[in-house]
Amino acid sequence: MTHVAVPAGQHHLHRRRASPAPPAFSAPPHPPEGVGSALRLIDAISADVAEHGFSPGHDAEVRKVIDRFVPEGCLFVLSPNDRSGTLHSQMAQLHGSTGDKKWAQRAANVGPRSATYPRSFSWDQLSTTQRKYVVYGFVNHSNEFPTLPLFPLTLARLIDYLEWLPVFGCGGSGWDSIRKYAEAVRAWSHALGWGDPVQQDERGYHLWQTNFSTNFEVSRTRASITAVRPEQVLAVGTQFDTASAEGAYWLLCCSLMWFTAIRPGHLLPETNRDPRHLPTSATEKQRVAADKNTRNLITFDNMAVQSTAEGLILAVRLEASKTMRSNHHRSETYGAACICSGGSRQPLCPVHAYLHYRDHFAPRGLPTPQYLASKGPEAFHRRAPFIAAMRSALRAAISAGVPTEVADLLVAQIAAKSLRAGSGTEAAGDANISDVQLSVHMGHKQVGTTRQFYIQLPVAKRAALISKRLAQGVTA
Ligand SMILES: [Zn+2]
Repeated sequence: MTHVAVPAGQHHLHRRRASPAPPAFSAPPHPPEGVGSALRLIDAISADVAEHGFSPGHDAEVRKVIDRFVPEGCLFVLSPNDRSGTLHSQMAQLHGSTGDKKWAQRAANVGPRSATYPRSFSWDQLSTTQRKYVVYGFVNHSNEFPTLPLFPLTLARLIDYLEWLPVFGCGGSGWDSIRKYAEAVRAWSHALGWGDPVQQDERGYHLWQTNFSTNFEVSRTRASITAVRPEQVLAVGTQFDTASAEGAYWLLCCSLMWFTAIRPGHLLPETNRDPRHLPTSATEKQRVAADKNTRNLITFDNMAVQSTAEGLILAVRLEASKTMRSNHHRSETYGAACICSGGSRQPLCPVHAYLHYRDHFAPRGLPTPQYLASKGPEAFHRRAPFIAAMRSALRAAISAGVPTEVADLLVAQIAAKSLRAGSGTEAAGDANISDVQLSVHMGHKQVGTTRQFYIQLPVAKRAALISKRLAQGVTA
């Protein structure tokens, strides 16, 4: 027998492969102060979910608590295994022995991108799928079934997570979307030196997954977003005071989101954070947050008004975000036509709403390319005031005959996304618009997404229109 020297970490791997038992889990160390406070607050939110059922507001609350209370760099939450001998832990160890920052960055794949594997906790650095797993860990943690620290994890816990996703408003399109979450946690677990949990029992995982796909019921998470109706858009559009910069911008947003279905993130940042305004002393966390806030914003360079045989057309070019650009996604162009006719201006006309805002209210002398959302050197038209303005416009537009409670409920359900949702719902009801055209209108990468969220409900309406059209051919 030859003796081959192997690093200590590999002995560990060999031993684990020889025994199919899951890795031994020691009782989690006592959670640090911030984690304990977060867990207590999240317990109260969970109690509300148990009593009233889940709503996206619960998810948002949990995220806020985690972001606010769990300390940056908290080792307890992720508990990386730096003795595993895997590539990431080799790099982490080299960082420890050499003090050279490049090893730490390689180990964590550092960067404000969605495909990184943070080794110490930072809410801002996490991808959407990673954040979901963090939410799971905090919502489900108990002494009997600890879900914190997040790693290492047993295969049974991974499955518990995947089956929890639809309960907490995720994974609407079945296994295809659940798989993304599974793969993110498996890769993260491996990068943190705890191995791929599926290797604990690959055959068992396969059996579970087949069964899950068969029995999985698609959850209708989008039902919670109220789609605005055309008459509501019109009513809202006429309520804004377009003699003010604010009102003119709200009208432009309203019109663009209705006619082009572009997402609120392209027009309405959440905060005033802009990477171009950061002092050189800004922290990495501040940079990441500022980048997230502005990365999708449309600039005036992205907009063009063209005169065509069909009339005036507003073209909006959406550039793939920095994250997407690295995946070779190209930019996409959306268009909206002037809806004014016979010399009378329509209040909601996207072309004229744009020209009105650009010519009268766009601030001068800002750095280029200038964001459409800029309202001054260091300020944006932000999302929260827009939603508030839209709600009060809708409230004012609702007729006096509607009972107050009904009106309140209707108004409270309106979000920035409601315009896009309404746009898709209306277009989906039109028999002359194909699924593929609708998918392009909504900016979905796969027609399947469009079919799932926008075509199912109006399918009867569309079928009725198609049969009427066909009937014209056979009854004439
Ligand atoms: Zn017009």
